Amino acid sequence: MHTRFSDGKGEPADWVSTALELGFFSIGFSEHSPLPFDNTFALKKENFAEYIRTINELKKEYADKIAVYCGLEMDFIPGISENFAEVKEKNSLDYIIGSVHLISNEEKDALWFIDGPTADIYESGLKYIFGNDIRKAVSAYFRQLNQMISTESFEIIGHFDKIKMHNRNRYFREDESWYRDLIMETLVLIAERGFIIEANTRGIYKKRSHSLFPGIEVLEAAREMNIPVTISSDAHLPGEMAALFPETLDQLQEVGFKELHYLSESGWSAISIERLINSGSL
Ligand SMILES: [Zn+2]
Repeated sequence: MHTRFSDGKGEPADWVSTALELGFFSIGFSEHSPLPFDNTFALKKENFAEYIRTINELKKEYADKIAVYCGLEMDFIPGISENFAEVKEKNSLDYIIGSVHLISNEEKDALWFIDGPTADIYESGLKYIFGNDIRKAVSAYFRQLNQMISTESFEIIGHFDKIKMHNRNRYFREDESWYRDLIMETLVLIAERGFIIEANTRGIYKKRSHSLFPGIEVLEAAREMNIPVTISSDAHLPGEMAALFPETLDQLQEVGFKELHYLSESGWSAISIERLINSGSL
C-alpha cells in the first residue's frame, strides 16, 4: 500500500478502516523508500520517522481488530540505494519489498524510469539512455534485478516483470527466446534465495498492462520451481485495496498454486487459496 507518505493518497488510518470493511485480517504499508535525489514518488527523508511512528501507532490501536505491518518498497539502484537489511533493522520494519523502477546504465550517467504513468517517459528513456535498443534495455533491467536478488536481503520481489509495462504490441513479444531466457535466469536466482514473488494486480486495473506482474506463463514457471507467491494490489488509493483479488486468486489456483504466503504474528505463513476463495470474504 502507498499512502500520502509517498505517491499514494489518504491517511494510513483511512486505509486501515477500509481494510476492516473489506474483511482483511492484515494490512501492510510499503511506502517507496527515500531516494537521495529529487523525485515525485518516494517518501521524503524528513517524513520517514513520522511514517514509522504513524504505522506503529495504528498497529497498537487496532491490535485486537487487524494486524498492521510497517514495511517499505525499497528501490534497488546500484551505488545509490541503501543496504536493505540495515534499513529494516534500524527502523524495526516488518518486511521489505525489493523493486527496480530506475535502471542504471554504465555508459550514461542517467537512470531509465520504467514506471511512469504514461508511455512517453518509458519511451524517452529507452531512446536517450539505451539508443532504442530494447534488448539492451530489458537486459539491463534484469541484470539490476539479479544484482538485487543476489546481494540484498528482503522478503518479496516487487512486480517481477514490470519492464513489460507499456510494451504490448510494441517492442518485444514475451515468448521471444531471449526474453524467456532472462525471465528463467532470474527465477532460478529467486528460488535459490527463497524470496516470495507477488501476483501484482496494479498493471491491469490501471490499464497499463494486459496481464498480472508477473504474467501467467511466468507464474507457471515460478510454481514449478516452488517459489512462494503472495497477492498485492500495489494500491495507491484505499478503493484499490482489493482490486482484482478474487480473479487473481482464481488464476493462481488455475496455475496450480495451492497456498498464498502472508505475514502473520508468527512470521511468514501460508494459507490455502481454496480456503480463501471459499470464504468469499473478498
Ligand atoms: Zn513499485
